[in-house]
Amino acid sequence: MTRNPEIESLSPGLYIVATPIGNLGDITLRSVDVLSRCDAVACEDTRVTGKLLKHLGISKPLLRYNDHSKDSDRRRILDILDTQAVALVSDAGTPLISDPGYRLVQDAQEAGRMITSLPGACAAVVGLTLSGLPNDRFLFAGFLPNKDKARRETLEELAAVDASLIFYESGPRLVKSLEVLGEVMPARDVAVARELTKLHEECRRGPAAELAEHYTRHPPKGEIVLLVGPPAAMKVDAVDADALLLAALETSKASQAAAGVARKTGMDRKQLYARAMELRGK
Ligand code: SAM
Repeated sequence: MTRNPEIESLSPGLYIVATPIGNLGDITLRSVDVLSRCDAVACEDTRVTGKLLKHLGISKPLLRYNDHSKDSDRRRILDILDTQAVALVSDAGTPLISDPGYRLVQDAQEAGRMITSLPGACAAVVGLTLSGLPNDRFLFAGFLPNKDKARRETLEELAAVDASLIFYESGPRLVKSLEVLGEVMPARDVAVARELTKLHEECRRGPAAELAEHYTRHPPKGEIVLLVGPPAAMKVDAVDADALLLAALETSKASQAAAGVARKTGMDRKQLYARAMELRGK
């Protein structure tokens, strides 16, 4: 007997489905397949998801699930997951990433329901790859707090992190955030990635103060990812590097010492490793 995959139903459970962040062409084949074959779609805003499904020629029952949902709404979806396949989507991008769904996933896990996650667009990752900032280590920090004091404190706390930082931002708040960034981390490379995957996509890089001035003159429209490069590489000469390597070699292997000093100084890890081997041999 042959099976028709088009009408074969999905196993019951929760399917976390990423959707585009602007360009509808970014929906994945797997996302379309699951949205076509699921029994229902849990979504933040039925109008937004209704439009996407219409564009894809798909019609499904829509269950509203967002930050205002009550515990009883979540329990209702959990019950449905026992016998039906439910796709969880957000208005755009990857569900749960600064979007609802975390408690639903946690409860579904605890209840022993099947859960799987379909990868796709996520503005934080698109912004990072486009920014030209170092991406070997990054910290995604979602939206900065709205209140001035809390925003400054958050930035002061994150200034010590040895990694690129990624924030979600909005047009009306961007200049203020850049001004505070300019005070808290004046030497850092900053990037503003705007309207990603859309017609007016833009990525502008520079010191925070310069970007604040630019966006004061040209108030930004649309959606924004704000990125900050890692703490500036220290200016070190060969003697300093030797001292740092010797200190690190007291407690670490040559490879670890080289990696640590490379992170601190921005110097080439392979050269530092070669020098660490020399120093160890002395
Ligand atoms: N879950 C989504 C994701 O995976 O990217 C993010 C949802 S969050 C509520 C919305 C924020 O993501 C926006 O305020 C903006 O900061 C960022 N964002 C979403 N789409 C974007 C785009 N096309 N360009 C730039 N930033 C975007």
